[in-house]
Amino acid sequence: MSVVVQKYGGSSVADAESIKRVARRIVETRRAGHAVCVVVSAMGDTTDGLLDLAKQVTPLPPGRELDMLLTAGERISMALVAMAIANLGHEARSFTGSQAGVITDAVHGRARIIDVTPGRIQTALDAGHIAIVAGFQGVSLDTKDITTLGRGGSDTTAVALAAALDADVCEIYTDVDGVFTADPRIVPAARKITQLSNEEMLEMAACGAKILHLRCVEYARRFDMPIHVRSSFSAHEGTWVTDKPQGDSVEAPIIAGVAHDRTEAKITIVGVPDRAGMAAEIFKAVALAEINIDMIVQNISVSETGLTDISFTLPKTDGQTGVQALGRIQGKVGFATILYDDHIGKLSLIGAGMRSHPGVSARLFQALADAGINIEMISTSEIRVSVVTRDDQLDDAVRAVHTAFGLDSSDGEAVVYGGSGR
Ligand code: ADP
Ligand code: ASP
Ligand code: MG
Repeated sequence: MSVVVQKYGGSSVADAESIKRVARRIVETRRAGHAVCVVVSAMGDTTDGLLDLAKQVTPLPPGRELDMLLTAGERISMALVAMAIANLGHEARSFTGSQAGVITDAVHGRARIIDVTPGRIQTALDAGHIAIVAGFQGVSLDTKDITTLGRGGSDTTAVALAAALDADVCEIYTDVDGVFTADPRIVPAARKITQLSNEEMLEMAACGAKILHLRCVEYARRFDMPIHVRSSFSAHEGTWVTDKPQGDSVEAPIIAGVAHDRTEAKITIVGVPDRAGMAAEIFKAVALAEINIDMIVQNISVSETGLTDISFTLPKTDGQTGVQALGRIQGKVGFATILYDDHIGKLSLIGAGMRSHPGVSARLFQALADAGINIEMISTSEIRVSVVTRDDQLDDAVRAVHTAFGLDSSDGEAVVYGGSGR
């Protein structure tokens, strides 16, 4: 019997009615003759609610306890979905991540999956039961503590289980009809993409398109697992993320889509002596603080002073840590000041076809200029151009670029079925 793994995100299981709707959909798949393993997220914005609650109790919740708290969200959904399925006359069994064999390292809040041993899931499927697994969580091999995989991590649970169970497909059910050329909440004229390569989806996810968790795409590529992103609110065919051509293969478009990210901040170190080794000192301090940096810009030094400025972007959540780490080496490096700016936004234009098409950057910069939007930083890769703007101009920037590259759909607005976009 072929195995299908389905993942339902928070907006798809937001309330009792949604849970009953999802249960019907799961039962239909089982009745069609598939073995079904389902991964669920916490209901609606439960995870944000639990995080807020923890912050009310302490400004710095211990990672172990925070993971214990957050994983409760997914446990609520898994039990309710299993009950709703039982009510439809089918056997369902719910499992925590740990029970499902999701083994991780011991890093709380962003644990990585190191192994999946789905013995209990396989036994449930062999018995004809529907297995429901709590997403976003696992158990550390070393400490035996419960861990979480990072925000949006249920997608990764689903792909990891799909690979371990040798499923035919991993279906990701969400609140939009698939992956669009831009976030439909910002660009109503965004177009649904029929098929996307893993490479392009990786860039989109890495650049902030939270429709799929970045590590889920990395995992799917490594295990060659096709992902089908679709809506749990409609019966429409969604987006296939796979390197195998689906249906009539036509030449891929130059641009796959426009992604945006509001989660980064910018640090500028002013008055850095322009000598060998200074950048090394600075970024060593940042690396020691375990901060992942994104873009880096170093200005030309002013010849009279021999001083330069270095700016880089980092996750807002690491902002304080970054400023403190740099403060500690100010005396040693001898720079003047540190500026912290968390009102930036990042826009990225992504497409594998860029490799063979010069002029993409020029057209992007012109579109932003025409919209009166100032560019503060630029970075490029083979298949991506990213720019930093003011955060309050980001939405306008995304729409302007989407239009300038001819991505606007002519047949109606993209539907957002639910969710708060939080
Ligand atoms: P879920 O709760 O199902 O995991 P998420 O909120 O994590 O859902 O992801 C779905 C959301 O991703 C959509 O509602 C949409 O606002 C956002 N999104 C961002 N970029 C895109 C894109 N390119 N295509 C589709 N949705 C996108
Ligand atoms: N509930 C978790 C979150 O909100 C995981 C997920 O939804 O994928 O981040
Ligand atoms: Mg998600």
